[in-house]
Amino acid sequence: MRWIGFVPPINYFHPAGVFDPPRTIDLTIEEIEAMRLVDLEHLTQEEAAMRMGVSRKTLWNDLKSGREKVIRAIINGYPIRISGGRFALHPEADLSRINEILSRIYTLLPGRNCGACGYGSCIGFAKALAEGRVSPEECRFLDSGSRNEIIKILERR
Ligand code: SF4
Repeated sequence: MRWIGFVPPINYFHPAGVFDPPRTIDLTIEEIEAMRLVDLEHLTQEEAAMRMGVSRKTLWNDLKSGREKVIRAIINGYPIRISGGRFALHPEADLSRINEILSRIYTLLPGRNCGACGYGSCIGFAKALAEGRVSPEECRFLDSGSRNEIIKILERR
């Protein structure tokens, strides 16, 4: 599991003018966090690894695969879909309320990223829930305990 400090508000990017792309690139939230910390916040890899609670090798693997995916998408005109793996919000993360709610909801979802809910991935569905655009029932794989937890989170907004 990695600590992350930011959940991207948009989970799908599609190149303008491309109508039938041959493939979609799946970028994980962990890869984005590694790039954000090193390429945007200019932390050293050691500092970024400490921030995410992983080894330098794991950080480097996230960074390398994330960069490769982004450049592959740009060069080939592929869409990018953002989905998650195993992560939790960093306790010191400076997040907006919606990001906080989104992350708490996301950790309760099944993590199949099957797209059956119509939102492409679990993070897309979590965002729609956090914004009040959908009900938890639309994920057919959600167990009743998690569904009730999500309803409580949404009621306390
Ligand atoms: S249906 Fe459920 S498991 Fe599948 S992507 Fe949507 S939220 Fe995730």
